[in-house]
Amino acid sequence: MKTNSSICPGCSIGCGLYLLESEEGGKRKVLHRTTSPMNEGKLCRFGTDLHTYYEREAMINSVDGKEVKQEEAIKAAKESLKGMKPDELAFIALPGTITNEEIVSFVSLAAEFGCENVSFGFERFFSVVPEEAAYIIENGLPFSEVEGASKIILFFLDPFVHYPLLARRILKAKKNGAKVIEVSFAKNERGIADETVLVKPTEVERIKEKKELFEDSLIIGELTPYTNPQFLSLMLWLNASTSSRLFLLKPFLNSTGAFLLGRDGGRKDLFEILEGVERGEIKALYLLETDIAGAMLGGEEVAETIPKLDLLIEQNAFRTHLSDTAGITICSEPFFMKKGTVVNVEGRVLEIGGESEKGLGIMESIGKGRKYEEVHEEAKKRLGLGDSEISEFEIAVKREERKFEVVEPKIEKEEGGGAEEEYFLWYKTNPFFWNGIRAKNFVEISPVAMRELGLFRGDVVEIVQGEGKERMGFKISDLPPNLVLSEAKLSIKPLQGLLTRVEARRAE
Ligand code: SF4
Repeated sequence: MKTNSSICPGCSIGCGLYLLESEEGGKRKVLHRTTSPMNEGKLCRFGTDLHTYYEREAMINSVDGKEVKQEEAIKAAKESLKGMKPDELAFIALPGTITNEEIVSFVSLAAEFGCENVSFGFERFFSVVPEEAAYIIENGLPFSEVEGASKIILFFLDPFVHYPLLARRILKAKKNGAKVIEVSFAKNERGIADETVLVKPTEVERIKEKKELFEDSLIIGELTPYTNPQFLSLMLWLNASTSSRLFLLKPFLNSTGAFLLGRDGGRKDLFEILEGVERGEIKALYLLETDIAGAMLGGEEVAETIPKLDLLIEQNAFRTHLSDTAGITICSEPFFMKKGTVVNVEGRVLEIGGESEKGLGIMESIGKGRKYEEVHEEAKKRLGLGDSEISEFEIAVKREERKFEVVEPKIEKEEGGGAEEEYFLWYKTNPFFWNGIRAKNFVEISPVAMRELGLFRGDVVEIVQGEGKERMGFKISDLPPNLVLSEAKLSIKPLQGLLTRVEARRAE
């Protein structure tokens, strides 16, 4: 057996672990790495199941559906990209399994072709956030700050579901005397909070009236590509107008690296790029290690939009929901094999633990032709790491708190609640969710909803919104009457951020 020290790519915490590889090519095993400071040896279910994540079908090198040698796929990609106008091109990489070095290479690859349509998934937030507050979305905080906080506000965040290894830090803070308050639509099941401030789905705006609650606190929330910008403004406003700090977790492991290293390239909102594809303005798309139809809500819609491209190039270790549509596929290495670094949400620079430069080499063969060392030095320099050795035991990328002002946000009201069949769908996102894995086949509903919908044990509930429709099992939870909670990704897109108005009924 060969033991590799590795990092879990399931979320922005980047837990350390060991991957045991059988020399005979048998199944891999995950072992706990007790010295890892990010997770102190513990893993969530996604981390302990990581070996299955790496057992997916490998990508092949292909051009027009025909398997070719890698050099041929690279050559075809280079020639095709050269033949396009810069504004007809787009480059997308959701930063889950890409290294800092690959980000640097990806940005310069786009620049080589004069393309400014580059997205790492979070670009739209920069237009709503004042420059002085950008550090809050770019940089997280060390977990020691969570453990040392005297008052923690969980802002619509259930740590046990969203970021399981964060929950341990909050429990430690409680042991150290912290008061934990959750602000949410429903009480979190495992009772981590000392106090719950319930918010009605139609009255998110009214949290502003409880501003004093946030004084002297550490507010912990989440930022995903689906966060309603108004909701982000609300978090920033609560932070700026009280003596609090704001810590935003993100779903993708190397989000911090992408924010800090991706900012020099052209930035384009992910959703705008997809609209450009839909309108026929963007004709070629380079997807780096990103199963965009698997990761995004409404992936079916994305899967219908992508064939409108003249060319899809996928660079990935594994086949994705779109690989059958891709004109060129280029096979890279799985994340654990990569040589390179990432920055976790605390600001630790972590070495992945592998030795392969393949993914980076593919992009450099199409683009500038640099060696790994040169790109690595550039990444280090741009992260401000100087000549220091990389160590997971240090917070090398620190954030600088700044004062900023934001206008009091107006949250558009989630209309509805009138018609009997109207419900609000609330997604509790989690590592399985973003990796296109459906870990749960049920939604949670209230006892009132069960009665009103005429449901009995074993029945199936149908959730409908426009074209989107899902049939799911159900579990009864202590929820407000008209809330439907899902930890699984359904084919229903959130319309206004946290909640989506849906119809629910008993499936025939
Ligand atoms: S998914 Fe996140 S919390 Fe779970 S093991 Fe991986 S990095 Fe840690």
